Parts: sequence; structure tokens; C-alpha cells
Amino acid sequence: MAKRKPLNKKELKEIRTILLKAKEEILNNAKGQESFCLDKDELMDPLDEASANIEAQRELRMRNREVFYLKKINKTLERIDHEGYGECEECGLHIGFVRLKARPTAELCIACKEENEMVENSSWKRSKSLGVALNEVR
Ligand SMILES: [Zn+2]
Repeated sequence: MAKRKPLNKKELKEIRTILLKAKEEILNNAKGQESFCLDKDELMDPLDEASANIEAQRELRMRNREVFYLKKINKTLERIDHEGYGECEECGLHIGFVRLKARPTAELCIACKEENEMVENSSWKRSKSLGVALNEVR
């Protein structure tokens, strides 16, 4: 099997820009949500509390996901700085620029990822839709 080429400096820089932008968007988003929560507390009606709790829980889940992604972004940025970025964690082949550009935090090449997804449990699959917005659209 032909080895994919490692990323060059220009490509690394491009990935880094994508990651920094994603990070900024999450942080901006977080700011907006905090003020939203604050307003809600002030206007809270006891009757609305139950539905508000569901809302809050959903928000919390989303926040957790964002925090998780944020950590992943930071880890990825670190890898870019210290080399080793773009290599599949399982087979060691280079993941390839096209895939990394679509999914900069990818740690596995497409072949290993597909294999992995088959054994991943369904609960991850179910919760995945939320992450897609953040993770895979850009
Ligand atoms: Zn692989």
C-alpha cells in the first residue's frame, strides 16, 4: 500500500487556522449561553421549572460535548507543534490532508476509523448527531 505523504508546512498552517477558528467559535458560543442561563434564572416560574430543567440538561450535555471537543482541539494543536500530527494512531500511516482538512481532530485514517465505528456501541452513535454540528460540518 502506498504511503500517503506527510503534511507540509503550508498544509499544517491551514489545519491550524481551521482549529483556531473552531476554538474561537466554541468560546464565543459559550459566552452567549452563559448570559442566556442567567436571564432564565431571573424569570423562572415554578411551573416552568420542569421543562427548564430538561432544557438545562440538554444544554449541559451540549456544553460537555463542546468542552470535550475543545480539549481535543487543544491536544491536536499541541500535536501540530510537536510533530506526529496526521499519523494514524492505529496503523501509523499518514491520514492525508483532504481528510484532515475536513476533520482536523481525526486521529485515525479512514480505514481504521471505519473498522472502529463498526465496534463502537450504539449509544455513541445516538449522541453523535450533536457532535456532528460541531465536529464534522466544517
Ligand atoms: Zn490507520
